[in-house]
Amino acid sequence: MNKGTLFVLTGPSGVGKGTVRKLMERERLNLFTSISATTRAPRKGEQEGVHYYFLTKEQFEQKIREEAFLEYAQFADNSYGTLREPVEEHLNKGENVLLEIEVQGALQVKERCPEAVMIFILPPSMEELRRRLIGRGTETPEKIEKRLKQAEWEMSQRDHFDYQIVNDHVVRAAVELVSIIRREGC
Ligand code: 5GP
Repeated sequence: MNKGTLFVLTGPSGVGKGTVRKLMERERLNLFTSISATTRAPRKGEQEGVHYYFLTKEQFEQKIREEAFLEYAQFADNSYGTLREPVEEHLNKGENVLLEIEVQGALQVKERCPEAVMIFILPPSMEELRRRLIGRGTETPEKIEKRLKQAEWEMSQRDHFDYQIVNDHVVRAAVELVSIIRREGC
């Protein structure tokens, strides 16, 4: 049986990766979306095992020692990581797998799995990214500044990716993502 294709969706925080992904998930694609582990506190409405696996710092470090992560990174004072086992299980079953992760982790995946399809979502401008992060209302002004600072470095990495999608219009961006997955997926 053919193995599935690994897709990595990345881009700065606030760019709309999650919104684009949710729209895309309405299409009938043979796609499993990985659920990450994080030490970040749950936001209002976020559920354990649905949005993330919420771990303490100690639990996260234990997973690092057990080599349970395919990739992990520090981002805006918290740790985030992709659990290796479910990703491998789904790929081995012939399903495509999507990781929605930040850029440092995406670059680790590219090194470890050079066959992964790497997709970068860009904001139309940095001003628009700031506006979206503020509009989302999930972070304090101080945390928004941290995320924007990180975004400048993240944007500088975009040429390492196979595809770049500008999220100027969420439906258009989702259509572009679906067509990439249909073309590259198994
Ligand atoms: P948030 O706190 O807004 O949910 O996520 C912050 C950033 O971490 C986002 O860019 C998100 O895509 C990224 N992220 C989520 N899960 C993972 C993961 O498993 N690994 C890495 N490297 N980044 C992740």
